[in-house]
Amino acid sequence: MSPDAATISSSTSPVSSSSWSDLATIALQGESIARADALRILSADDDQVLAILDAAYQVRREFFQKSVQLYYLKNAKSGLCPEDCGYCSQAKGSEAGIDKYPMLNAERLMDGARKAFESNARTYCIVASGRGPSDREVDHVANVVTQIKSEFGLHICCCLGLLKPEQALKLKDAGVDRVNHNLNTSERFHDEIVSTHTFKDRLQTLDVCKDAGLELCAGMIVGMGETHEDVVDVALKLAELKVESIPVNFLIPIEGAQLGRPVDLDPRYCLKVLSMFRLTNPKTELRIAGGREVNLRTMQSMGLYAANSMFVSDYLTTPGQKAEEDFQMIRDLGFEITAGDYESSQLLERFGKSSSAQQV
Ligand code: SF4
Repeated sequence: MSPDAATISSSTSPVSSSSWSDLATIALQGESIARADALRILSADDDQVLAILDAAYQVRREFFQKSVQLYYLKNAKSGLCPEDCGYCSQAKGSEAGIDKYPMLNAERLMDGARKAFESNARTYCIVASGRGPSDREVDHVANVVTQIKSEFGLHICCCLGLLKPEQALKLKDAGVDRVNHNLNTSERFHDEIVSTHTFKDRLQTLDVCKDAGLELCAGMIVGMGETHEDVVDVALKLAELKVESIPVNFLIPIEGAQLGRPVDLDPRYCLKVLSMFRLTNPKTELRIAGGREVNLRTMQSMGLYAANSMFVSDYLTTPGQKAEEDFQMIRDLGFEITAGDYESSQLLERFGKSSSAQQV
């Protein structure tokens, strides 16, 4: 498996006569564009990027106006994982020089919630390495979530790996709003990036969470050597699953991880990917996730014309841009951080806007 640019740009362009603005018209009705058109976006010439992004922006503006939702990640348990996900610095066999530690205690998780609150994030994401949590770990997270809810009122998303039905129910009862469990890549390509669990295992956890009444956050990692067809497969599968939130990660090559060698994801391709996700999932929250700074580089603000959400501060094992730079980028775009029902006078003061301007 080689994450090189050749695989990304080798797809043939399917024939379709719809203009980019025709695609916006379809998505503005809340419908996904057709597979052939999604593929056409990914293989379009770079000089089409602005027209494609404009189509995506029409849809983003209709369903999300100027809002940007911020997420703050806490790596609650790092490394020590028995799984072999090739993209992950925490995987079995990874030689990446990362911190390794068991589940953080309540105090450290509360510190993370405070930082999320102070960073204007609406959602605090508690992420733990591993195939799936023990019942004891689920009890621990559930107890802390109850405290976080009463102290900060943050929206909570947990990413704890494969979950059993009773674990999902316990998280829901504790006040967890959403579970993140990414598809990561297409069903066809999945076994190329991991051998210790299957694509079906991942779908099963999403089913279990949905049955427990939890919102679903599921997305992908682009740049692992997949084809355009694989990227479109994921976008259409997520549309079918009706997930609430889609994080699109662009691979950050980490020295020591199996997929650690540099990939050549260019910023214009990243913009096409984000636009394709917007036009196939018009009403779904779309987040520019890991790899924003490294892969979109000077064009990262343009990604927010398609996506309506992003992480603020650091990722799991790699640093992100400073929060103040993110706030400035959002201001420069004329967009607004969504505070929703979690707004506080402190948040409004920091962003320097009136209360009504924060609402969507
Ligand atoms: S992605 Fe999760 S399950 Fe896979 S190796 Fe990393 S920590 Fe383990």
